[in-house]
Amino acid sequence: MIYFDNAATTKPAESVIKAVCDCMENTFGNPSSLHTLGIRAQQIMDRARKNIASVLAVPPETVYFTSGATESSNLAIRGAAGTYGRRKKRVITTTVEHSSVKEAFNRLEEEGFEVIRISPRENGEFAPEDFIAAVDGNTFLISMMLVNNETGAVLPVKKVFNTVKRMNSEIITHCDAVQAFMKIPVKPNELKADLISMSAHKIYGPKGVGAIYVKKGIRLLKQNHGGKQENNMRGGTEAVPLIAGFGEAVEMLSGTFADRTEKLETLRRHFLEKTENMDGISVNSPENSVPYIVNISAVGFRSEIILHFLEEREIYISSGSACSKGAKSGVLGEFGISPELEDSALRISFSHENTTEQIDEFISALAEAQKRLKR
Ligand code: PLP
Repeated sequence: MIYFDNAATTKPAESVIKAVCDCMENTFGNPSSLHTLGIRAQQIMDRARKNIASVLAVPPETVYFTSGATESSNLAIRGAAGTYGRRKKRVITTTVEHSSVKEAFNRLEEEGFEVIRISPRENGEFAPEDFIAAVDGNTFLISMMLVNNETGAVLPVKKVFNTVKRMNSEIITHCDAVQAFMKIPVKPNELKADLISMSAHKIYGPKGVGAIYVKKGIRLLKQNHGGKQENNMRGGTEAVPLIAGFGEAVEMLSGTFADRTEKLETLRRHFLEKTENMDGISVNSPENSVPYIVNISAVGFRSEIILHFLEEREIYISSGSACSKGAKSGVLGEFGISPELEDSALRISFSHENTTEQIDEFISALAEAQKRLKR
């Protein structure tokens, strides 16, 4: 099997599975209980929180566990609107966000907020000036992803947030860092991000667990009412085994930033060199992308046709965002990709466990698909 769909989800690491199972077997206490079993569960969460905080270079008490990045972003956006959107009504975001952010803003719009959506310019790049021009005295929130999940493009979050904060330090800044966390540096202090969404299952951790960084002093209106867990930010008994797995994934990856980046750069280079010489293949990812995601089009073939041809050979890729189940999100069009190329788009997303030999096998299978499916 060749698994090139790591932007959709990653295979949990052995050590993650072990951490989850160990916790389920040996530490079943409720972290809110006052007895030893509860304290042991609390300690497991403390350790995971510390691991995440250390990578972000923030205090552990600013990291809160959630059920995943969708919940984190909903809490960020709806929570900020609940606190800071009483008098001010304008929010700014981009047209290329993941559905978890996009839909949260659509809902705010239905409730009467003014949502400004910034598109990339004709060259497919975002111009920080366009965000700055949209900021007015009525603006209380700006939300922008760091790495796009369909193309791998890196967005100028640092520049935009730093400038916005200089203009008005009270505007809340949120970043969906799901495809960036543990792949490129994500430091809230440098990005000037008040809120950051993260997910475990994109970094070899378990599904159904994520986190949100909330800068000290930022007040979010609680969205999950119930108990006072997570310092009263999110009600509900914490998923301790999944959190243990999340913490383990972060710890496992922490020491290998440089090595993984080098390996991934090699994979991407190899992939691009091979596809460069292929007829009918067009690369949709911009140069300024993370090496983890490459989006290409096999011109003239609908994405799904190629996807299933490869699947029969146990090669797994994706046609776009996993959440859209094959439906086009329109994000590639926003980046300036033509409708024809968007219809034939293929997202190949690597992990550090992939090899150049797997890429060669993929390329042969893709060439075979072009030949066979044409007839
Ligand atoms: N944001 C981005 C950019 C993503 O790629 C994803 C996952 O597909 C999410 C948010 C949602 O994350 P989760 O599955 O943890 O809710």
